Amino acid sequence: MAHRSSIDPLFRGGVPVGIEEVLADRDERATLERRVLERHPDKALIVATLNIPGPIKYTPGLDDLFGSGADRLMAHFLDASIYEDRRRATGCTLFALTNEDPLSAKRRAVAFEDEDALGRLFDVDVLRAGCASALSRVGLGMLPRTCLVCDCPAKECARSRRHSLEELYGAIRRIYETALGGAADARA
Ligand SMILES: [Zn+2]
Repeated sequence: MAHRSSIDPLFRGGVPVGIEEVLADRDERATLERRVLERHPDKALIVATLNIPGPIKYTPGLDDLFGSGADRLMAHFLDASIYEDRRRATGCTLFALTNEDPLSAKRRAVAFEDEDALGRLFDVDVLRAGCASALSRVGLGMLPRTCLVCDCPAKECARSRRHSLEELYGAIRRIYETALGGAADARA
């Protein structure tokens, strides 16, 4: 069969975003996070995003993937209320508030990232009022994230651009298919 597809189906239908858009989105997100925590200083704010390399951050396939993973994440936080479920060209973000202690919320978030079949594709931050930065895995004595393709620390592979985008896309699709029991669109 001829090799006809230049891009993995999960990443079709997306519009590449530039660094300016990504940075502007990040600023806006930080402002929103501060505002929410000012209003709810007694709660912890959970911010979940997809960890997607490359310039395409949003497609119909990624929207579905995010929705499935966000549902599974929220099942770990039964008391949490969704503040905003945002789907943009710059990516999907779920903001949710919990009464849980921030440290135990972060442990729960890391357990999702490490143990749920879709967790590897998510970054789940936990923020609390009065602190500019999110709680970190390493600060809590937990291991750093590993690469989706090999088992090296993810930051090393990202910094050295060890893997091609095609390789990373393939790894992401395999994780998604495995999580859904092969139900994801695998036609390529
Ligand atoms: Zn790697």
